[in-house]
Amino acid sequence: MDASLSERLLPWYREHGRDLAFRRSRDPYAILVSEVLLQRTRVASGLPYYERFLARFPTVGDLARATGEEVLKAWEGLGFYGRARNLHRTAKAIVADHDGEVPRRSAELRTLPGIGDYTAGAVASIAFGERVPAVDGNAARVLARVFRLGGDVSRGDARRRLMAIASRLVPEGDPGAFNQALMELGATVCRPKAPRCPACPIREGCGAYADGEPDAYPRFRARARVPVVRVAFALAERDGKVLLVRRPAAGLLAGMWGLPGGELPPRRSEAAVLRGFLRDLGLTARTIGVAGPVEHAFSHRRWQGTVYRVKASGSARLPEGAIWATALDLLRLPIVPFHRRFLEARGPPTVGPPSPG
Ligand code: SF4
Repeated sequence: MDASLSERLLPWYREHGRDLAFRRSRDPYAILVSEVLLQRTRVASGLPYYERFLARFPTVGDLARATGEEVLKAWEGLGFYGRARNLHRTAKAIVADHDGEVPRRSAELRTLPGIGDYTAGAVASIAFGERVPAVDGNAARVLARVFRLGGDVSRGDARRRLMAIASRLVPEGDPGAFNQALMELGATVCRPKAPRCPACPIREGCGAYADGEPDAYPRFRARARVPVVRVAFALAERDGKVLLVRRPAAGLLAGMWGLPGGELPPRRSEAAVLRGFLRDLGLTARTIGVAGPVEHAFSHRRWQGTVYRVKASGSARLPEGAIWATALDLLRLPIVPFHRRFLEARGPPTVGPPSPG
């Protein structure tokens, strides 16, 4: 099956592979951006971001010179903001340590911030023709079914077996096309549920198909339940401006701007915690109503809570990392997306010069 798999897969890919913008580029930097940006993102939602990101930062040097805030702004709404911060650090490392050229070998790529086996394999094989695998969730599902791989192929021994098979399968000629073909087959034919086996170019030789039970693979270990954490945020307005704070440089939504507030310690009331947040900014707060609920899922926790309308009085000067934001600030700053919806629901904002931020 090994050699014939690529012989059957590549013609199928040439005929049926989707014509996606990021596949047309031969530029290693654009390929790196697409591989980072489209991870854990549906292609349809990620493509507009990819195009806007490259228009905003056309070269690795442009990205390296950008501020962290500019990069987060281009990523706003895409989620998993750690990817944007790592891509920015990677661009700086490429400029500082590799003369501005994306490294050609997967081993070198893996030394860059946030670049793991998948991204290194994808960039090295697609941009530079290195014979290495690039196994995303779609490719892993195909291989688990073809080779009847039991166990959770996302980790441990089962993952190592999967990667050994993938390494063996990658052909000398056009390894990048082979890797993309395998991922494309998983995305469009060998789907998680109801795979389209009759349309599959490699059904002969597929173990799960021969057994009549493609859905039996892959098996994943049951995920732990995601904890629900209570949160509260304050929507405070003054003279048509709204109070925003920059979130800490590490942790959830790091470096983005949002409404003051956050996770509630156990047994503390929302009002008391919000008063504390605003007191730290030199303000006295009084809750005057509810702006709406918050419900947001991260990969490892779920936030549930409320945004309160708050009347804030006190100090005219805010500490570093807090501003009374104008309409221009709201346009230029990277803002927590589920806070932006409360900001946009406030009605027409006041236009004025941006605050020093
Ligand atoms: S035959 Fe079916 S299960 Fe096997 S690889 Fe093709 S689509 Fe997946």
